[in-house]
Parts: sequence; structure tokens; C-alpha cells
Amino acid sequence: MANMSSLRAAGGSTRWTRAPGAVIAQIAEGNQADIDRAVAAARMALEDGPWSRFKPSERQAVMLKLADLVEAEFDDIALVDTLEMGRPITMSKLMKSMVVRALRHYAGLATAIHGQTMGNSALVDLTSFTLREPVGVVGAIIPWNGPVFCAAWKCAPALAAGCTVVMKPSEKGSLTPLRFGELCLEAGIPPGVVNVVTGHGAVGAALSDHPDVDKITFTGSCGTGQKIIAASAGTVKRVTMELGGKSPNIIFADADLDLAVPAAGMAIFNNSGQVCSAGSRIFVERAIHDEFVARLVEFGKTLKLGHTLDPATQIGPIVSQGQFDRVCSYLEIGPQEGVHVALGGAALRDGDFGKGFYVAPTIFGGAEDGMRVAREEIFGPVACVLPFDSFDEVIARANDTVFGLAAAVWTQDITRAHRAVKRIKAGTVWVNHYGAMDPAVPFGGYKMSGFGREGGTEHIESYLQTKGVWIRT
Ligand code: NAD
Repeated sequence: MANMSSLRAAGGSTRWTRAPGAVIAQIAEGNQADIDRAVAAARMALEDGPWSRFKPSERQAVMLKLADLVEAEFDDIALVDTLEMGRPITMSKLMKSMVVRALRHYAGLATAIHGQTMGNSALVDLTSFTLREPVGVVGAIIPWNGPVFCAAWKCAPALAAGCTVVMKPSEKGSLTPLRFGELCLEAGIPPGVVNVVTGHGAVGAALSDHPDVDKITFTGSCGTGQKIIAASAGTVKRVTMELGGKSPNIIFADADLDLAVPAAGMAIFNNSGQVCSAGSRIFVERAIHDEFVARLVEFGKTLKLGHTLDPATQIGPIVSQGQFDRVCSYLEIGPQEGVHVALGGAALRDGDFGKGFYVAPTIFGGAEDGMRVAREEIFGPVACVLPFDSFDEVIARANDTVFGLAAAVWTQDITRAHRAVKRIKAGTVWVNHYGAMDPAVPFGGYKMSGFGREGGTEHIESYLQTKGVWIRT
């Protein structure tokens, strides 16, 4: 990896980047002046630079080259993500396919952008058609729980559409987005097209109300998203939001428990629950509730918590002290609200675990829908198991949340599965699976989980605008 210390902020500020429990690098702490410079570079590249003259096939070629470079270097990239934000190395390496496929998928779409010709009934003879044009300079503000993944998923469709990007990575996951920016240059994407400004929330805020930014694409928490929406109103930016969730995972009595139990476990414990679509509310039909909980507890006990660089480790630490404290507070709130702890329920502080921020996989039984632990996004390895008695009841309870990011249904009854899919208010519904994603399939939120889609043609559409053209014939 390149020497990140060569990248300087306008104000000369730097800060230490922390792995969960240790310092690993020093990087620039950007400010308003850096955002101004980056936005000016992005504007120049969009309007006057070589990028503005790139043909679709040329955009495609450099994106395919970028995919090759990212693929070739992915072991190093995965290592840096793991060091910085604590996802176990084996899990970080598994992100390779999703990152590289996104770049190649949207490279493919770069040559498939087209307008339409439409008949019209104007009083004089006029031909009318549409042009699809890049929306402009894009501000991409991303979280820490998938640094390189989010960088690639934000930039790929934007580049395919011909936009330029100013990316603001999370202060807890900046290193691989920085490397991604360098690889863009190595791939032949001209300077100024992909700009990365590191720093805290104030840097993202400077992007959100910047008069020369045309669109903000944000992935992160609901509260930050609300601030960005408000900040962007003054300049009427296009905005897309990928926010949080409290996703229901519904297990009917006829489910194949050999599949459903481990899937439900990993749906909440993977990445220590720091996944936007984590299946944190597990609704289990009463007839199998006790058996399911017993099997889920047994599955949870098999998970290997450990050092993030140990390939056998399945569960790593929480990303930071602040996030760790937040998750631990919910471990106290749950029992105070009356749940019983079926598994875990505590931080791991003994021995080497005490050097990081480890929380045991936790299952709360006896939870009720109104409890905070069953309503609020914990963003930790904490599941509430909630029994149910009927189809209509569980659908209503699954939908009784301000969020609507994802859901899953486990049943052998195809009619029931289809009925559930239609009635669940969420942007993604998996049946007899949890967590599949692909760049060809839209992903995004209903309700307060956001708007706009990442993946699918809707994603590239969100980086395009339409011009209606009339020509007197
Ligand atoms: P966060 O909202 O704290 O931070 C996200 C980004 O916003 C960071 O880069 C941060 O520096 C920046 N930021 C903070 N304050 C800002 C402000 N006022 N203006 C502009 N930018 C600002 O979120 P996080 O803790 O990094 O990530 C966790 C959250 O992200 C969870 O809620 C999770 O559900 C959500 N998430 C959603 C998806 C999805 O696809 N829906 C994916 C991953 C994570």
C-alpha cells in the first residue's frame, strides 16, 4: 500500500487512525478548504477536463482496469480494512467478489445508457427525445462498517454515468477508500474525477451544503442522514440515503431449521452485528420457539471470537470505544426492561479480549415489541427473539418499526412466502436465505431506512438526469 502520510490537508492537520484498541496510521484531518479544493477539482474534471471527453467505452475500459487492480490487491485491502475497523480477516476477504463485481457490473452499464425518442402532439412539427446526462459533482459520504465496499459501490455507478466524486470516508474507516482513490488514478481515471477527503463529520457537513455539489449519496446512521437532508435543502441537491434498520427475520414452524438457525445466527452476529441489514428481531412461531432458541444458543456457542488476523476467527471486536460503550449500554437496558439473557449478555474483558472491544454474541429471550432493545438499532451482536402465533400478527409486528431496510421469511410454504413478501414493508426480502446482495439487484430502504437504491439499474439512474430535447422538423 502507498504511504498515506504523503496526503496532506490544507490546514496541515493530521490525526491518528485507530484499530479497535491500537493506533495504526496517521492521516490528514481535512477541513472546509480541503472540501473546496476537492469540489473545484471535481467540477473542473466534469466540465473541462479529459473526463468530460471520455466516451462511454473509455469510461468502461478504465473501470474494468480499476476492477483488475482492486482484485489483484484485494488481500492487502482486506488486511487494512480488518486492521482499521476490526472485521475478521476471512470475512474481509469475502468482500472481494462484491467489490470487484460492482466495478465490473457498472463498467458494463457505462455503454448502455440511453435516452428515448417519443412522439408528441405539439401544434408544429417537432421531434422530441431525451438525453441522459451525468448529474454532476457527487458528494459520497460513507460509513466505517464496509470502507472499501462502500467506496466501490458509491463510485462505480457514478463513474459509469460520467459523474465526478468527492468521497468522505468515515473517520473510523479511511485507509482503503484512500487506496481506492489511488487505484483510480493508476487505472487511468483522470485526476480530479475521484477525490477523497478524510476527516470527521464536519468534513461531511461541508460537502452536504456545498453550493457546487449536485448530489449527495449517503450511507450511515439515520440521525446523520436527517442532518444531511436538512443541510442539502439550501442548494436543492439530489439526495439518496442508505440508513439503518431493525430488520425482522421471521421463522415459521415449517422452516428448515438446519438452514434457518445458522443463517439467523450469522444474520445478527456477522461483523459483530455492525451490519445495516442485521436480522436483529427474530420472530419465531410459538410451536418451535423453544427448540429454535435452544439451537440458536448452541450455534452461538460454536462461533469463534478472536484476533481479527486469525483466519479461523468468525467474530471480531466492535469498531471503537464509543460504539462499544453504546452496545454495552443495551446489554444493561435489556435485562432492566425484563428480557432474559439466553446467550452472552456481556463484554469480554479477560486476557487478550480486554485489549479490544469484544462483545459476546447475545440472545435476548422474553423480549416484547415495545422494548428499546427490540425497537432501536443497536449495531452490535444482540438479537431479540420474539414468539408469534399467526401470519397476520407477525406481519403487523414485523412492520411495526420506523425502519424498513430488509427482512427474511423462512417457510416451506410457497404461498405463504409470496404473501409475506408482498406485505412486508422493506426494501429487501429474502426467503429461506439471509443477506444475499448483488450489484444487479437493488438494495435500499423503505420508511426511515432511506430512499434511493444501490445496485441494479436504479442505482445508475440516480447519477443521471434527463434532458428533454425538441427539434423543429
Ligand atoms: P454515521 O452516520 O455516524 O457516519 C457516517 C458518515 O457520516 C461518516 O463518514 C461520518 O463522518 C459522516 N458524518 C457524521 N456527521 C455528519 C454530518 N453532520 N454531516 C455529514 N456527514 C457526517 O454512521 P456510522 O456509524 O459510520 O455507520 C453506522 C450506520 O450506518 C448504522 O446506522 C448503519 O445501519 C448504517 N449503514 C447503512 C447501510 C445501508 O446500506 N443502508 C450500510 C452500512 C451502514
